[in-house]
Amino acid sequence: MTSDLRTSARDIRVALVHLGCARNLIDSENILGHLGAEGYSLTGSVEEADVAILNTCSFIGPAREESEGVIQDLLQAKAAGNLRGVIVAGCLPEKFRPEVEAKFPQVDAFLGLSDYSNVARIVETVLKGGKVREDSGGRAPQGQGEFLRLLQTPRSYAYLRPSHGCDHDCGFCIIPQIRGKQISKPVAAVVAEVEALVAKGVCEVVMVAEDSTGYGRDFAQGEARLPELVDAMASVAGLKWLRVMYAYPNNFPWALTDVFNRHANIVPYLDIPTQHISSKVLKNMRRGGSSASVRRIMQRLREEVPDMVLRTTVLVGHPGEGEQEFNELLDWLEEFRFERLGAFAFSPEATAPSGADEDRCSHEEALERQGRVMQLQAQIHADFQQTLVGRRLPVLVDESAGEWAIARTWADAPEVDGVVRIHDPAHNLSTGAMPEVLVTAADGYDLEAEVLPSPN
Ligand code: SF4
Repeated sequence: MTSDLRTSARDIRVALVHLGCARNLIDSENILGHLGAEGYSLTGSVEEADVAILNTCSFIGPAREESEGVIQDLLQAKAAGNLRGVIVAGCLPEKFRPEVEAKFPQVDAFLGLSDYSNVARIVETVLKGGKVREDSGGRAPQGQGEFLRLLQTPRSYAYLRPSHGCDHDCGFCIIPQIRGKQISKPVAAVVAEVEALVAKGVCEVVMVAEDSTGYGRDFAQGEARLPELVDAMASVAGLKWLRVMYAYPNNFPWALTDVFNRHANIVPYLDIPTQHISSKVLKNMRRGGSSASVRRIMQRLREEVPDMVLRTTVLVGHPGEGEQEFNELLDWLEEFRFERLGAFAFSPEATAPSGADEDRCSHEEALERQGRVMQLQAQIHADFQQTLVGRRLPVLVDESAGEWAIARTWADAPEVDGVVRIHDPAHNLSTGAMPEVLVTAADGYDLEAEVLPSPN
């Protein structure tokens, strides 16, 4: 970029509106990182911006509706003369480009998924009155490290993805149609990313991917390399905590539990979506496992890793789930007692394998089942929280809010689990502090604690 353009870029304020999951947040951070590197001024407020970029989500109908609602708001702001340009990026234009282009022709630029290395050029084109319709956001991500991120998380944690895409074809899911087949980054590239994050002051790295346990199966050897990767990441000097999310249960790479036990900085926590426990429903979902195999895997994880906290997600109302299969799920959840759990109601996707299968309950019934799962889980969760009261635990402080420091134990992933509130009127605890606390009370999904004097 010439110095003239750099000068003008500084005068242009760009706001990014982010929707969707933690994986999408990494894309948003990449977009911001590239714009910042090219000299653009970034603002968190659309009202203050010249150009707004919306990074969309589209994995189910309600997510698309939310994305389209924000597009409408931004176009209204442009029509009112409050914005000079509206750019729509991410999963929505990647998968639904013709539909979204036809619906919103006033959008200045559409960008599918890419490494966003050309995003500054696109802002420039839009500011000159040009429309961008071709895929010119950069190369599709090809397993390279991602280093130009402008982190949007507090420095206590940051997300990292070791791979893009997914090789499964779960009946309910269109993510592989959006994000493509799995492409893993080399171990060295991921380790370099961890080192870069630690150098920025990040304490906890949260690994996210479409399928973490599939990491490395796309390499020439065809083997899952997650244990080797996690071992290498945990060995990075200065990394305080490492947390693994989105582990697919089948073909679980069991060497991973040994890696967990060898590294004190790997939190004994695993997010492992099971989706269901009925063999019939699992088959309809194309999940590849059976009731017996899922039960065995979950039990073995608890047996092999001390203090292991398991988080799962279940999907209710999928084709094939009658009252009997749903009750089988409820019974198992009550018996196994996951410490952390999210439940979702099936949302039929026209292009997903299960999309046209009518052998399912109504959406209202699916929502009712979701409510019953969450009601059961509230009690299981509360019982687990009570077991933490009276324990001395290390916590990681995410933020200071008024008189309170907001922290997490090993049992809580950021944004999806609860927090620990620590009364800290003197503001002794800043983001990234890791004091030892005594848990004094459990309150719904959260805990209260007081800091123990540090031993010296
Ligand atoms: S594992 Fe299944 S649910 Fe997860 S991204 Fe892949 S296809 Fe979708």
